[in-house]
Amino acid sequence: MITERIRPWLGSQHPRPDGSVANIVTRFAALGLDAEKQLAQDLREIVSPSEKIVLTADSRTIEFAEPVERNLRDQGYSIETYIFPDEEDGSSPANEDVNSIKLAQFIEEVGAFGAVAVGSGTVNDLTKYACELRSLPYVVYGTAASMNGYNSPIAALYVKGLKSSVPARPAVGMYANPEVIAKAPLAMHLAGLGDLCSKPFAGADAAVANILSGEKPWRAPMEMVHESFERVLEQAQGIRNSEPEAIQILMEGLWISGFSMAMAGTSAPASGGEHLFSHRIDMLRHDAGLPPMALHGTQVGIACGLVRPLFAQAAALSPSDVATKLEGSLLSPSLEEAEDLNGWLRSRHPDLSEKSLAAMLKPASLKYDSETRKALRKNLALHWDDVRQELVEAHRHAQRVEVALQTAEAPRDPVEMNLSHDEAKRILRICRDIRNRFTILDLTAEILGEAALTAAFPFRSDTE
Ligand SMILES: [Zn+2]
Repeated sequence: MITERIRPWLGSQHPRPDGSVANIVTRFAALGLDAEKQLAQDLREIVSPSEKIVLTADSRTIEFAEPVERNLRDQGYSIETYIFPDEEDGSSPANEDVNSIKLAQFIEEVGAFGAVAVGSGTVNDLTKYACELRSLPYVVYGTAASMNGYNSPIAALYVKGLKSSVPARPAVGMYANPEVIAKAPLAMHLAGLGDLCSKPFAGADAAVANILSGEKPWRAPMEMVHESFERVLEQAQGIRNSEPEAIQILMEGLWISGFSMAMAGTSAPASGGEHLFSHRIDMLRHDAGLPPMALHGTQVGIACGLVRPLFAQAAALSPSDVATKLEGSLLSPSLEEAEDLNGWLRSRHPDLSEKSLAAMLKPASLKYDSETRKALRKNLALHWDDVRQELVEAHRHAQRVEVALQTAEAPRDPVEMNLSHDEAKRILRICRDIRNRFTILDLTAEILGEAALTAAFPFRSDTE
């Protein structure tokens, strides 16, 4: 069944303020006990049943493939199964482009006309990107409500060893059976909740960035998620108890969040400063040849608690406070350091590989360009009342997020994912260098200095 909240978005079109049009590629969806049957029926409108299709999974999700396969065969499809291999250390397949390239080759070899991904997270991203490479459609049968990337217009992958958000066409259809997703490990539901909890922070970051570039905040991608987001927060206890109804509401919220990214054409409505914290952890682990520290949404949920005090801290500043603080010279890097941005970045991120550092150079050179920052600081002082209103609003919602994460007993302290407080603080101070997207981290550093990024750290330090 398609819920009334999902239906309006399927295959819809929306004008964007820049004059472009958002085309929602996802035309089909079902969230119910007959999702597998619906998937096979809808697929007939995308790929002729006389053609071959590839079913993808990994060693963990393949056990959920049987009802999907059975229904596809009932429709007449011949199926080739492709299982993404685990890493050598036994961890889940890495989200590396090579895994997508191998799948794309397999699709070509067997002569398939589309793919059905059985999984969530990495299986979805790898299949999405492989189909992008082959210009073929795919649909996804989600096995966990753990992230919002099914219908987003990007795939989060390492391309040639570098963490990237690669443009990739969303799933044409997305499906989930509440009984199946409710049986996923609790950590996966909590990760889905954590990923969704970035909404008020990412929303405020995007609105502030609009204001500072002299535009009116574009609220539609945020507002479309609002009602569903509130419903999810109310389900915190049910999510904790893995109740199918609560997990279904969570999945629906994640899908709507995915639509908001498709509408915006970027991840901005669902990814602000808190996501940069998570991405930087991913970079560290990847460069050290280690598997991810935790699920994406687990890292994001923890990061939400770390950026939350920054909104309160900045919102407490009056226009005259801001004007005074911005009178000083530009904060780090100094003009001299900006001449050798590479060296400056290396000193800030000594533990990253040269490859990762090279990848950071372009976003950092845009972010730390002195002319851009001067203009930005001018606008901060000029529009502080409007900016502050966004911060206050975000913080108001953030308190509800905190309560929901607490009620669901989701991880909130970095040590729960084996990240020490000192290391978490270090990451919080520097993770903004990764991407040229203005967030609360930049706002805080620009007005109050980098030390302020950790001044309100909500946990006691390791040495205390
Ligand atoms: Zn996310």
